[in-house]
Amino acid sequence: MNCIHPTPSESGFAAAEMLFIDPDACIDCGACLDVCPVGAVVADYDLTEKDEAFRELNARFFQSAEAPRYVARRPDQRLSNDPGGPGKLRVAIVGSGPAGAFAAQYLLDAGVDVPDAGVDVLGAGTDVAIDMFERLPVPWGLVRFGVAPDHPRTKQIADLFERIADDPRFRLVLDTEIGRDVGLSDLTGVYDAVIFATGALSDRKLEIPGEGLPGSCSATEFASWYNGHPDFADRSFNLDTERIVVVGNGNVALDVARVLASDIDVLRRTDIADHALDALAASRVREVVVIGRRGPAQAAFTTPELLGLAASRDFSLQVELPDDCTASDDWIGATKLDILQRLAGRAPTAGRTLRLLFQRSPIEILGDDRVSAIRLVHNRLERKPDGRLVAMASDQQDILDTGFVLRSVGYAGSAIDGLPFDERRGVVPNIGGRVIDPATHDALPGLYVTGWIRRGPSGSMGSNRTCAREAVAALLDDHRAGKLIRGGAASYRLTEAIAQGSGLAHWRAIDGHERAQGRLARRPRVKLVHRSDMARIGGKEALR
Ligand code: NAP
Repeated sequence: MNCIHPTPSESGFAAAEMLFIDPDACIDCGACLDVCPVGAVVADYDLTEKDEAFRELNARFFQSAEAPRYVARRPDQRLSNDPGGPGKLRVAIVGSGPAGAFAAQYLLDAGVDVPDAGVDVLGAGTDVAIDMFERLPVPWGLVRFGVAPDHPRTKQIADLFERIADDPRFRLVLDTEIGRDVGLSDLTGVYDAVIFATGALSDRKLEIPGEGLPGSCSATEFASWYNGHPDFADRSFNLDTERIVVVGNGNVALDVARVLASDIDVLRRTDIADHALDALAASRVREVVVIGRRGPAQAAFTTPELLGLAASRDFSLQVELPDDCTASDDWIGATKLDILQRLAGRAPTAGRTLRLLFQRSPIEILGDDRVSAIRLVHNRLERKPDGRLVAMASDQQDILDTGFVLRSVGYAGSAIDGLPFDERRGVVPNIGGRVIDPATHDALPGLYVTGWIRRGPSGSMGSNRTCAREAVAALLDDHRAGKLIRGGAASYRLTEAIAQGSGLAHWRAIDGHERAQGRLARRPRVKLVHRSDMARIGGKEALR
């Protein structure tokens, strides 16, 4: 019925916080319930008290000024299922996170089985052959290492990725890093096209004094640690403090704040890494403070995540609104302000406190040999000529005692050897997913980007789907137009790297083991966090 909006082909999809069901167009067929990969759709009569707020949010959307945009409903454009062009299309995807996995899905959907096309070094006997390279010994990137442990439904998307991995035209090459084990020229020498989906894993800095002190780190490091990323498994963080301050108020900030404030018994039922469970069980933290530099209506967190916080019985949510809150002229900002105003009057409850503060910026992290406090300045908002509301420091300051400061002010992509890079935006320059020469704006044949390395660190999982779809559409167009340079034989280095890397069987052994351990402990899985354990359980002598 095309009743869910915005669709990927409607403007507004990329920035949408959630999707909405048009009650006038919906015929209650229930088809969306069956197909939603993360079980996000619930019949209104089945809404629990916790989710009731979404009914109002849905209604508000269709009453807002946004709604008329979706009246002229354009049908979804489908990708042609014929990759066309001469011969089999061989594609390398670098990075196995959601952006790369969605790109694989679109490519496989576009491919047509040709059973007698023969098997070559790329290991497939069909017209599309995909090798997905992942530097870690386990796949699916942010689904495993980014999504918060208490968001198991979001992780269900991995079921779709597992089905992709079962496709005979797809091969997973784990524990293989482009730039270390294999060069870009090894890939371009054999594959007709290379799609980079390497994400944006470095974190942005605050650039204030004291940022380098022990006890100050990025939310990325902390989240990678509690999610069991092997590169962070041996880290330790100061939880021997009564207050933790999180700077920035995007969804990542809310994720780490929630984990820090949660009841340990709630976390024990998740797939959080065991080392984090032990450390959090011993934590002295009583209060987690989340600092937003702009006002409540401009907060970077999304409304569903705010509602999730508000519904938690696990901690006491305390909202402190500034006296000079600026109303918002967009409906989503107005909705956030409205919800926060309702929350601001809440009486404190038992358990830890999670405080949301607004219109404050950190100007200095204090401490001699480690963090002991943070100095904040109060901000007022100023509208710029382009309409943006920006935070401007006032004279008022305050100091919060704390032993642990987490900055959660966004991610930045890292340059990829051999590709142009836009240092300022932290992305690979591209037009519609085609990598371009920044000087001439000409597309570099056969090179594509998708996900955060293409557009920067923004959007939900669904945004990566649209992003991947566009990049694959560009790739298929170039293939049909004969613009791709046909790959040749695999270099020795690539053949060796693929032989030395681990693959799907390795991952499935790890996955089976983790789930089995999880069943014993009544958890979704118990994660392996050290490469040596992954090698042992996966059936390899050692990983790289
Ligand atoms: P984000 O949404 O861009 O939030 C960054 C935050 O840092 C904003 O509050 C920003 O304030 C603030 N900030 C930036 N520079 C600052 C500075 N110098 N001083 C103080 N504050 C500063 O980034 P994110 O939280 O890392 O999330 C990245 C993307 O992943 C987002 O699209 C997010 O929605 C998505 N994500 C989604 C989920 C989910 O759906 N559950 C979970 C995690 C992440 P301003 O707004 O004023 O710039």
